[in-house]
Amino acid sequence: MKLAEGSTPGSPEGSLESTPDGSIGPARLGKADVHIHSIASDGTASAAQILDYAETQTDLDVIAVADHERIEAAFECQRLARERGTRVQVVVAEEVTTRSGHLLGVFLQARLKRNQRLETTVAEIHEQGGLAIVPHPFSAFTLGMRKHAIMRVHLSTDPLVYWDALEGFNPSTAGRYGRAATARIAAELGLPLVGNSDAHTMDTIGDGHTLFPGTTAEEYRQAILDGTASGACITWGAVREVLIYGRQVRKQARDVSRWGRRNLLRDDAPRDLGVPADQLELQRELERRYLLEREAIRRAHGPAANSAEPSARSAARAAARAAARSADGAKGSTDREAARGLARRLLAIRQGARARSMTAGSREVEEPPA
Ligand SMILES: [Zn+2]
Ligand SMILES: [Zn+2]
Repeated sequence: MKLAEGSTPGSPEGSLESTPDGSIGPARLGKADVHIHSIASDGTASAAQILDYAETQTDLDVIAVADHERIEAAFECQRLARERGTRVQVVVAEEVTTRSGHLLGVFLQARLKRNQRLETTVAEIHEQGGLAIVPHPFSAFTLGMRKHAIMRVHLSTDPLVYWDALEGFNPSTAGRYGRAATARIAAELGLPLVGNSDAHTMDTIGDGHTLFPGTTAEEYRQAILDGTASGACITWGAVREVLIYGRQVRKQARDVSRWGRRNLLRDDAPRDLGVPADQLELQRELERRYLLEREAIRRAHGPAANSAEPSARSAARAAARAAARSADGAKGSTDREAARGLARRLLAIRQGARARSMTAGSREVEEPPA
Protein backbone atom coordinates (compact mmCIF):
# COMPACT_ATOMS: atom_id res chain seq x y z
CA MET A 1 0.00 0.00 0.00
CA LYS A 2 1.39 3.40 -0.89
CA LEU A 3 1.25 5.90 1.91
CA ALA A 4 0.55 9.55 1.25
CA GLU A 5 1.86 10.75 4.58
CA GLY A 6 4.55 9.64 6.98
CA SER A 7 4.38 9.10 10.69
CA THR A 8 3.59 12.00 12.95
CA PRO A 9 6.02 13.65 15.38
CA GLY A 10 6.31 11.78 18.63
CA SER A 11 5.85 8.38 17.02
CA PRO A 12 7.57 5.36 18.63
CA GLU A 13 10.96 3.92 17.63
CA GLY A 14 9.49 1.76 14.85
CA SER A 15 8.86 4.60 12.41
CA LEU A 16 7.27 4.32 8.97
CA GLU A 17 10.71 4.53 7.33
CA SER A 18 12.00 1.45 9.10
CA THR A 19 8.79 -0.57 8.75
CA PRO A 20 6.91 0.73 5.72
CA ASP A 21 3.97 -1.62 6.20
CA GLY A 22 4.38 -2.06 9.91
CA SER A 23 5.16 -5.77 9.55
CA ILE A 24 8.94 -6.19 9.59
CA GLY A 25 11.02 -7.39 12.53
CA PRO A 26 10.43 -7.13 16.26
CA ALA A 27 9.44 -3.45 15.97
CA ARG A 28 6.22 -4.37 14.15
CA LEU A 29 3.56 -1.80 14.85
CA GLY A 30 -0.08 -2.68 15.24
CA LYS A 31 -2.56 -1.26 12.77
CA ALA A 32 -6.03 0.04 13.65
CA ASP A 33 -8.93 1.43 11.62
CA VAL A 34 -11.79 2.45 13.93
CA HIS A 35 -13.87 4.56 11.56
CA ILE A 36 -15.74 2.20 9.20
CA HIS A 37 -19.38 2.70 8.12
CA SER A 38 -21.77 -0.24 7.67
CA ILE A 39 -25.19 -0.63 6.01
CA ALA A 40 -26.71 0.41 9.36
CA SER A 41 -25.80 3.99 8.36
CA ASP A 42 -24.54 5.08 4.93
CA GLY A 43 -22.01 2.32 4.31
CA THR A 44 -22.50 -0.57 1.88
CA ALA A 45 -21.27 -3.65 3.80
CA SER A 46 -22.72 -5.49 6.81
CA ALA A 47 -20.87 -5.96 10.10
CA ALA A 48 -20.16 -9.59 9.13
CA GLN A 49 -18.74 -8.62 5.72
CA ILE A 50 -16.57 -5.91 7.28
CA LEU A 51 -15.15 -8.35 9.81
CA ASP A 52 -14.52 -11.01 7.12
CA TYR A 53 -12.77 -8.51 4.90
CA ALA A 54 -10.60 -7.09 7.70
CA GLU A 55 -9.67 -10.60 8.82
CA THR A 56 -8.79 -12.06 5.43
CA GLN A 57 -7.85 -9.16 3.15
CA THR A 58 -5.99 -6.71 5.44
CA ASP A 59 -3.25 -6.71 8.05
CA LEU A 60 -5.34 -4.62 10.44
CA ASP A 61 -5.15 -5.72 14.09
CA VAL A 62 -7.97 -3.60 15.52
CA ILE A 63 -11.13 -2.36 13.82
CA ALA A 64 -14.40 -0.67 14.76
CA VAL A 65 -17.61 -0.05 12.89
CA ALA A 66 -18.49 3.61 13.56
CA ASP A 67 -21.90 4.30 12.06
CA HIS A 68 -23.54 7.71 12.05
CA GLU A 69 -25.78 7.96 15.14
CA ARG A 70 -25.94 4.16 15.46
CA ILE A 71 -24.12 1.48 17.38
CA GLU A 72 -25.96 -1.78 16.56
CA ALA A 73 -23.61 -2.95 13.79
CA ALA A 74 -20.60 -2.02 15.92
CA PHE A 75 -21.80 -4.30 18.74
CA GLU A 76 -22.65 -7.05 16.23
CA CYS A 77 -19.18 -6.86 14.68
CA GLN A 78 -17.62 -7.24 18.13
CA ARG A 79 -19.90 -10.16 19.00
CA LEU A 80 -19.04 -11.98 15.76
CA ALA A 81 -15.32 -11.47 16.33
CA ARG A 82 -15.58 -12.97 19.83
CA GLU A 83 -17.75 -15.85 18.62
CA ARG A 84 -15.36 -16.68 15.77
CA GLY A 85 -12.18 -15.97 17.72
CA THR A 86 -10.80 -13.79 14.94
CA ARG A 87 -7.25 -12.50 14.77
CA VAL A 88 -8.67 -8.98 14.39
CA GLN A 89 -9.88 -7.42 17.64
CA VAL A 90 -13.08 -5.39 17.43
CA VAL A 91 -14.06 -2.43 19.60
CA VAL A 92 -17.32 -0.48 19.59
CA ALA A 93 -17.45 3.02 18.11
CA GLU A 94 -19.94 5.60 16.85
CA GLU A 95 -19.66 8.74 14.74
CA VAL A 96 -22.15 11.01 16.45
CA THR A 97 -23.32 14.41 15.27
CA THR A 98 -22.97 17.16 17.90
CA ARG A 99 -24.01 20.79 17.65
CA SER A 100 -20.38 21.53 16.67
CA GLY A 101 -19.96 18.78 14.07
CA HIS A 102 -19.02 15.11 13.82
CA LEU A 103 -17.40 13.41 16.80
CA LEU A 104 -15.90 9.91 16.98
CA GLY A 105 -16.35 7.93 20.22
CA VAL A 106 -14.32 4.68 20.48
CA PHE A 107 -14.57 1.95 23.20
CA LEU A 108 -18.23 2.72 23.88
CA GLN A 109 -20.76 0.86 26.05
CA ALA A 110 -23.95 2.55 24.86
CA ARG A 111 -25.27 4.67 22.02
CA LEU A 112 -24.61 8.42 22.26
CA LYS A 113 -27.40 10.98 21.85
CA ARG A 114 -27.21 13.07 18.69
CA ASN A 115 -27.22 16.89 18.46
CA GLN A 116 -26.10 17.48 22.02
CA ARG A 117 -23.64 20.18 23.10
CA LEU A 118 -20.16 19.05 22.09
CA GLU A 119 -18.86 19.13 25.69
CA THR A 120 -21.78 17.01 26.92
CA THR A 121 -21.03 14.25 24.41
CA VAL A 122 -17.26 14.35 24.99
CA ALA A 123 -17.87 13.96 28.76
CA GLU A 124 -20.27 11.09 28.11
CA ILE A 125 -17.70 9.27 25.96
CA HIS A 126 -15.12 9.54 28.76
CA GLU A 127 -17.65 8.49 31.36
CA GLN A 128 -18.23 5.35 29.28
CA GLY A 129 -14.47 4.71 29.40
CA GLY A 130 -14.07 5.70 25.75
CA LEU A 131 -11.75 7.85 23.64
CA ALA A 132 -12.97 11.14 22.13
CA ILE A 133 -11.47 11.76 18.68
CA VAL A 134 -12.20 14.57 16.20
CA PRO A 135 -12.89 12.91 12.81
CA HIS A 136 -11.85 14.77 9.63
CA PRO A 137 -11.41 18.19 11.35
CA PHE A 138 -12.19 21.27 9.23
CA SER A 139 -13.78 19.27 6.37
CA ALA A 140 -16.22 21.55 4.61
CA PHE A 141 -19.01 19.23 3.47
CA THR A 142 -19.07 16.48 6.08
CA LEU A 143 -19.61 18.48 9.29
CA GLY A 144 -15.94 18.63 10.22
CA MET A 145 -15.35 20.44 13.50
CA ARG A 146 -14.00 23.98 13.41
CA LYS A 147 -11.02 25.27 15.36
CA HIS A 148 -13.04 27.20 17.95
CA ALA A 149 -14.96 24.06 18.88
CA ILE A 150 -11.75 22.01 19.16
CA MET A 151 -10.24 24.75 21.38
CA ARG A 152 -13.34 24.94 23.58
CA VAL A 153 -12.95 21.29 24.54
CA HIS A 154 -9.17 21.58 24.86
CA LEU A 155 -9.49 24.49 27.30
CA SER A 156 -12.41 23.04 29.27
CA THR A 157 -11.87 22.79 33.03
CA ASP A 158 -14.17 19.75 33.34
CA PRO A 159 -11.91 16.73 33.96
CA LEU A 160 -14.08 14.64 31.59
CA VAL A 161 -13.93 17.17 28.73
CA TYR A 162 -10.71 16.83 26.71
CA TRP A 163 -9.48 15.35 23.42
CA ASP A 164 -7.69 12.03 23.10
CA ALA A 165 -6.65 12.53 19.46
CA LEU A 166 -7.36 14.26 16.16
CA GLU A 167 -7.98 12.23 12.99
CA GLY A 168 -5.29 13.77 10.80
CA PHE A 169 -5.23 11.01 8.17
CA ASN A 170 -8.55 10.35 6.41
CA PRO A 171 -8.36 9.32 2.72
CA SER A 172 -11.55 11.12 1.58
CA THR A 173 -11.45 14.42 -0.26
CA ALA A 174 -13.25 15.93 2.73
CA GLY A 175 -10.55 14.57 5.02
CA ARG A 176 -7.71 15.73 2.80
CA TYR A 177 -9.09 19.25 2.83
CA GLY A 178 -8.18 19.79 6.50
CA ARG A 179 -5.09 17.57 6.73
CA ALA A 180 -2.42 20.31 6.96
CA ALA A 181 -4.44 22.43 9.39
CA THR A 182 -5.12 19.35 11.53
CA ALA A 183 -1.41 18.54 11.75
CA ARG A 184 -0.67 22.13 12.82
CA ILE A 185 -3.29 22.21 15.55
CA ALA A 186 -2.29 18.75 16.83
CA ALA A 187 1.30 19.94 17.21
CA GLU A 188 0.13 23.17 18.85
CA LEU A 189 -2.06 21.35 21.39
CA GLY A 190 0.24 18.35 21.88
CA LEU A 191 -2.41 15.84 20.71
CA PRO A 192 -1.81 12.54 18.89
CA LEU A 193 -2.65 12.49 15.19
CA VAL A 194 -4.39 9.24 14.21
CA GLY A 195 -5.57 7.78 10.91
CA ASN A 196 -8.79 6.01 9.88
CA SER A 197 -10.34 5.01 6.56
CA ASP A 198 -13.87 6.46 7.02
CA ALA A 199 -14.65 3.55 4.67
CA HIS A 200 -18.15 3.32 3.19
CA THR A 201 -17.23 0.33 0.99
CA MET A 202 -15.36 -2.84 1.91
CA ASP A 203 -12.44 -2.37 -0.45
CA THR A 204 -11.47 0.93 1.22
CA ILE A 205 -11.14 -0.50 4.75
CA GLY A 206 -7.64 0.20 6.06
CA ASP A 207 -6.92 2.96 3.50
CA GLY A 208 -6.35 5.18 6.54
CA HIS A 209 -5.05 3.68 9.79
CA THR A 210 -3.33 4.26 13.11
CA LEU A 211 0.02 2.62 13.88
CA PHE A 212 0.76 1.73 17.50
CA PRO A 213 3.23 -0.34 19.53
CA GLY A 214 1.56 -3.73 20.11
CA THR A 215 -1.34 -5.50 18.40
CA THR A 216 -4.28 -5.52 20.82
CA ALA A 217 -7.17 -3.12 21.31
CA GLU A 218 -5.89 -2.26 24.79
CA GLU A 219 -2.41 -1.50 23.41
CA TYR A 220 -4.05 0.73 20.81
CA ARG A 221 -5.91 2.61 23.53
CA GLN A 222 -2.77 2.93 25.63
CA ALA A 223 -0.72 4.23 22.68
CA ILE A 224 -3.25 7.02 22.14
CA LEU A 225 -3.23 7.93 25.84
CA ASP A 226 0.60 7.84 25.87
CA GLY A 227 0.90 9.84 22.65
CA THR A 228 2.88 7.06 20.92
CA ALA A 229 0.32 6.39 18.16
CA SER A 230 0.81 7.76 14.65
CA GLY A 231 -1.27 7.76 11.49
CA ALA A 232 -1.08 7.25 7.74
CA CYS A 233 -3.45 7.12 4.79
CA ILE A 234 -3.67 7.03 1.03
CA THR A 235 -5.71 9.61 -0.88
CA TRP A 236 -8.68 8.31 -2.87
CA GLY A 237 -9.01 11.02 -5.48
CA ALA A 238 -12.07 11.97 -7.54
CA VAL A 239 -12.56 8.77 -9.58
CA ARG A 240 -12.48 6.53 -6.52
CA GLU A 241 -14.88 8.84 -4.68
CA VAL A 242 -17.38 8.76 -7.56
CA LEU A 243 -17.31 4.94 -7.57
CA ILE A 244 -17.81 4.84 -3.79
CA TYR A 245 -20.64 7.36 -4.02
CA GLY A 246 -22.38 5.33 -6.74
CA ARG A 247 -22.46 2.30 -4.44
CA GLN A 248 -23.77 4.40 -1.56
CA VAL A 249 -26.59 5.74 -3.77
CA ARG A 250 -27.61 2.21 -4.81
CA LYS A 251 -27.62 1.12 -1.16
CA GLN A 252 -29.70 4.14 -0.17
CA ALA A 253 -32.19 3.37 -2.94
CA ARG A 254 -32.65 -0.09 -1.36
CA ASP A 255 -33.24 1.55 2.06
CA VAL A 256 -35.85 3.88 0.56
CA SER A 257 -37.62 1.01 -1.18
CA ARG A 258 -37.80 -0.95 2.11
CA TRP A 259 -39.07 2.20 3.85
CA GLY A 260 -41.79 2.49 1.18
CA ARG A 261 -42.83 -1.14 1.56
CA ARG A 262 -42.95 -0.77 5.34
CA ASN A 263 -44.85 2.51 5.48
CA LEU A 264 -47.00 2.43 2.33
CA LEU A 265 -47.63 -1.25 1.67
CA ARG A 266 -47.46 -2.16 5.41
CA ASP A 267 -45.45 -5.28 4.73
CA ASP A 268 -42.83 -6.60 7.08
CA ALA A 269 -39.60 -5.07 5.73
CA PRO A 270 -37.71 -3.53 8.64
CA ARG A 271 -34.68 -1.38 7.90
CA ASP A 272 -31.74 -3.69 7.30
CA LEU A 273 -29.06 -2.97 9.92
CA GLY A 274 -27.22 -6.20 9.15
CA VAL A 275 -27.93 -7.43 12.70
CA PRO A 276 -30.16 -10.46 13.48
CA ALA A 277 -33.35 -9.52 15.38
CA ASP A 278 -32.50 -11.62 18.46
CA GLN A 279 -29.09 -9.92 18.69
CA LEU A 280 -30.73 -6.50 18.48
CA GLU A 281 -32.96 -7.42 21.41
CA LEU A 282 -30.01 -8.68 23.43
CA GLN A 283 -28.01 -5.53 22.66
CA ARG A 284 -30.86 -3.29 23.82
CA GLU A 285 -31.20 -5.25 27.03
CA LEU A 286 -27.46 -4.99 27.76
CA GLU A 287 -27.49 -1.28 26.93
CA ARG A 288 -30.48 -0.74 29.21
CA ARG A 289 -28.67 -2.52 32.03
CA TYR A 290 -25.55 -0.43 31.47
CA LEU A 291 -27.53 2.81 31.64
CA LEU A 292 -29.36 1.71 34.80
CA GLU A 293 -26.07 0.75 36.40
CA ARG A 294 -24.54 4.07 35.43
CA GLU A 295 -27.45 5.92 36.99
CA ALA A 296 -26.83 4.02 40.22
CA ILE A 297 -23.11 4.89 40.11
CA ARG A 298 -23.92 8.53 39.43
CA ARG A 299 -26.26 8.58 42.40
CA ALA A 300 -23.59 7.00 44.60
CA HIS A 301 -20.71 9.18 43.38
CA GLY A 302 -22.60 12.31 42.37
CA PRO A 303 -22.74 13.84 38.87
CA ALA A 304 -20.00 13.34 36.26
CA ALA A 305 -17.14 15.28 37.86
CA ASN A 306 -17.63 14.09 41.46
CA SER A 307 -15.67 11.40 43.23
CA ALA A 308 -14.71 10.06 46.62
CA GLU A 309 -11.71 12.43 46.60
CA PRO A 310 -13.26 15.90 46.56
CA SER A 311 -10.11 17.72 47.67
CA ALA A 312 -7.93 16.18 44.96
CA ARG A 313 -10.67 16.86 42.46
CA SER A 314 -11.07 20.53 43.27
CA ALA A 315 -7.29 20.98 43.32
CA ALA A 316 -7.01 19.44 39.85
CA ARG A 317 -9.88 21.51 38.54
CA ALA A 318 -8.38 24.71 39.98
CA ALA A 319 -5.07 23.76 38.37
CA ALA A 320 -6.77 23.12 35.04
CA ARG A 321 -8.58 26.48 35.24
CA ALA A 322 -5.30 28.22 35.98
CA ALA A 323 -3.73 26.36 33.06
CA ALA A 324 -6.47 27.55 30.74
CA ARG A 325 -5.80 31.16 31.75
CA SER A 326 -2.04 30.77 31.78
CA ALA A 327 -0.04 31.88 28.76
CA ASP A 328 2.74 29.51 29.85
CA GLY A 329 2.28 26.49 27.58
CA ALA A 330 4.59 24.10 29.44
CA LYS A 331 2.96 24.74 32.80
CA GLY A 332 -0.46 24.45 31.16
CA SER A 333 0.22 21.00 29.79
CA THR A 334 1.50 19.74 33.17
CA ASP A 335 -1.67 20.92 34.89
CA ARG A 336 -3.85 19.39 32.19
CA GLU A 337 -2.01 16.11 32.69
CA ALA A 338 -2.97 16.26 36.38
CA ALA A 339 -6.60 16.88 35.44
CA ARG A 340 -6.56 14.01 32.92
CA GLY A 341 -4.94 11.67 35.44
CA LEU A 342 -7.75 12.49 37.84
CA ALA A 343 -10.40 11.93 35.16
CA ARG A 344 -8.90 8.51 34.49
CA ARG A 345 -9.01 7.65 38.21
CA LEU A 346 -12.69 8.70 38.35
CA LEU A 347 -13.40 6.45 35.39
CA ALA A 348 -11.55 3.56 36.99
CA ILE A 349 -13.77 3.81 40.10
CA ARG A 350 -16.87 3.73 37.92
CA GLN A 351 -15.64 1.05 35.55
CA GLY A 352 -14.71 -1.22 38.44
CA ALA A 353 -18.20 -1.00 39.85
CA ARG A 354 -19.79 -1.37 36.43
CA ALA A 355 -17.62 -4.31 35.32
CA ARG A 356 -18.66 -6.27 38.42
CA SER A 357 -22.32 -5.74 37.76
CA MET A 358 -22.16 -6.09 33.95
CA THR A 359 -20.37 -9.43 34.23
CA ALA A 360 -23.21 -10.73 36.37
CA GLY A 361 -25.76 -9.02 34.10
CA SER A 362 -24.48 -10.29 30.75
CA ARG A 363 -24.23 -13.87 32.02
CA GLU A 364 -27.91 -13.79 32.83
CA VAL A 365 -28.83 -12.34 29.45
CA GLU A 366 -26.54 -14.52 27.36
CA GLU A 367 -28.04 -17.70 28.78
CA PRO A 368 -31.75 -17.37 28.06
CA PRO A 369 -33.99 -20.19 29.30
CA ALA A 370 -34.07 -22.99 26.71
ZN1 LIG B 1 -17.99 12.33 9.43
ZN1 LIG C 1 -17.44 8.85 8.78
